[in-house]
Amino acid sequence: MIIKSFAPSPLTKGLQALVTRLHPTHPQYQNFQQELKNKEAGDFGEQYVMKELQQMALLNDCYILHNVTLPSALPMQIDILLIVPNAIILLEIKNIRGTVHLKNDPRQLIRTSDSGEVHVFTHPEIQLEQYIQGMKHFLDTQNVSIPIYGAVVFPFNNVNIHREEGRLPILMAKELPIFLHKHLEKSKETTTMAEIKNIILSHLRNRTPFPLCQYYQIDASALRRGVYCENCGGFGMEKLKIGWHCQMCQHRCRDAHIQSLKDYSMLVGETITNRECRDFLMIESEHVAKRILQKLQLPRSGSNKNSRYKLSGLYMNR
Ligand SMILES: [Zn+2]
Repeated sequence: MIIKSFAPSPLTKGLQALVTRLHPTHPQYQNFQQELKNKEAGDFGEQYVMKELQQMALLNDCYILHNVTLPSALPMQIDILLIVPNAIILLEIKNIRGTVHLKNDPRQLIRTSDSGEVHVFTHPEIQLEQYIQGMKHFLDTQNVSIPIYGAVVFPFNNVNIHREEGRLPILMAKELPIFLHKHLEKSKETTTMAEIKNIILSHLRNRTPFPLCQYYQIDASALRRGVYCENCGGFGMEKLKIGWHCQMCQHRCRDAHIQSLKDYSMLVGETITNRECRDFLMIESEHVAKRILQKLQLPRSGSNKNSRYKLSGLYMNR
């Protein structure tokens, strides 16, 4: 049973906004484009494994959660967490194509793409060990004692894996039923499962790396300003009395400014003033900007000209 469903990672959404807004001549543009592709592939893999888990009758009475962050001494962002009778299982999903070498001493994941390019990544075991320790620490603070297992899962057969001896299981998604069955055989006890589920749900954290200009140390002036046309991709839609008009493709849209304000919140800052709003959306009238911001019913601090509108609710709820 899924109790926290799949959702694209906030960083994927942020990188989409960054790649849309950053000028292609920016020296880091291609790096961000590549990072976005990696994140999108990662999300796709996680979504696939979530679907597979949902279809396993074996997990009908277990709890499945996507993307779990809990308060802990060690940073954690668990791709998939399973609460099964008498155990917690953490899955680290790796959707990487090409040839992968998982080497020890030091532990690294080395990926060679089909075109021969070599990239080095953190060994997924290191992440998973950290999450298992972090999870253990979190449960200790809640006075819960339960075995925690983990596995690294490669969702698709688009990867050729060479592995030196390791400490944690590395599986293909198709092996998950057998792997999970082994853990589920041991016990049928379900009372603590509900308790653990409630503890985890009430401590979930929403961690985002926003604003990305700060995170990646990009000058916000390198971003393209203006309202973006969803139809042709052009910038600089013109404000009409009601809605927005694209001079390039004649497309009209009532709420085109909402995506731009979401972009602002993910890239530049989580609050915005009337002046910053006019500058980013490229509108002249203070009155029009005020109407736009007020209509969104955003939490506000300060009064009159010093009002700051809080934008973080935009990308989370819409
Ligand atoms: Zn257009």
